Amino acid sequence: MRPEDVLVLPFVFALGAILGSFANVCIHRLPKGESVVSPRSRCPGCREPIAAWDNIPVLSWILLRGRCRSCRTPISSRYPLVEAIVGTLFVSAAVLHGFGPVALSGAILATAAVILAATDLDARVLPDEVTLGVLGLGLLLALWRDVAAVRVHGPAALASHVVPALAGAAFGAMLVWGVGAAYRLVRGAEGMGMGDVKMIAMIGAFVGPGGVLLTLFGASLAGTVIAGLPALLRNLSWRAAFGRARSSPEKARDEARRGGLFVDPDGRIVESGPRWREIPGAPSRGETLSPAGPVARPVAAFARLALRRAASGRTSSFGRLAVEDETGEFFRVLAARGEGVAGGLLVLLSRVDVPFGVFLAAASVVVWQWGGLALDLLSGGLPFPGRELLP
Ligand SMILES: [Zn+2]
Repeated sequence: MRPEDVLVLPFVFALGAILGSFANVCIHRLPKGESVVSPRSRCPGCREPIAAWDNIPVLSWILLRGRCRSCRTPISSRYPLVEAIVGTLFVSAAVLHGFGPVALSGAILATAAVILAATDLDARVLPDEVTLGVLGLGLLLALWRDVAAVRVHGPAALASHVVPALAGAAFGAMLVWGVGAAYRLVRGAEGMGMGDVKMIAMIGAFVGPGGVLLTLFGASLAGTVIAGLPALLRNLSWRAAFGRARSSPEKARDEARRGGLFVDPDGRIVESGPRWREIPGAPSRGETLSPAGPVARPVAAFARLALRRAASGRTSSFGRLAVEDETGEFFRVLAARGEGVAGGLLVLLSRVDVPFGVFLAAASVVVWQWGGLALDLLSGGLPFPGRELLP
């Protein structure tokens, strides 16, 4: 990168942030089967359409201090976070790989990874629009790099990127499909779905067959080893939240609004956050815990037990609370902890089920960046199939 190129980086960030804004729309609408083109975005609180000047990536959220202009409903910090992450991914791709198809490949794969991690975490869905759409984009980018390579190295470089991209997609899909089929055979249960198969095919088009192996290895390692880290972070953040909530009922309500449930000593719900409200049949503000529907019943039962125990100063916690409807459309595994605070009981809830797509997404970004280096080390410098795809 030349010194004058640095001047272009703010524009690269802006481009990434705009794409990040579109990524937010994809994250919210694709799992519900809604169109990502129309209608315009609306405030979930007051249904007011969001004006263009209130929809500037990152900046608007900061200027509005994270609230809707008309009804002051808090807007999730995830919107500016996704925009900032995608903007940063674009800048780092440009800094590391210049302005061309290589950097664009890395940036697009990373953006797809952000969207898929979010939809898989939220709704256990890996939308075809993203997996198959970006798979197509990956093949086009490989074709673009072939054209550039032929111009430099002559006809010998023909199909030097498209073939490994196709091979990576096919190899990844077959491998994950095979593992899923074997799992079904042995355990009789669904291990990995077709969404995972399409996602690894998408990744394979960017990282090639060698990169697919590294991605699967990295994702499995992260899934088993690093799964303990979120638990540690959760315990630390919960300890801080209960500490704040003990000072006043208002603070306790704030914590409940963020990630839990605040009930008065009679078991009436004073305040609740998204983790509680998204559960089908969960009683709302002002109601008591008892009319909970069948899906919400285990969490409501936990809260009632925690309320009784809090009366004698005891805290209650549960590591894995399965919350599921009969169709399996709504599925959460929650960790819960309840403590007596000023004015009642505060229950904090957190998801502990991290689906495989999240680890696949994270591993693919790392492998795209450093997988080439790893393959060189592993193969002792011998040519590895698909090495050309990786920087
Ligand atoms: Zn509003």
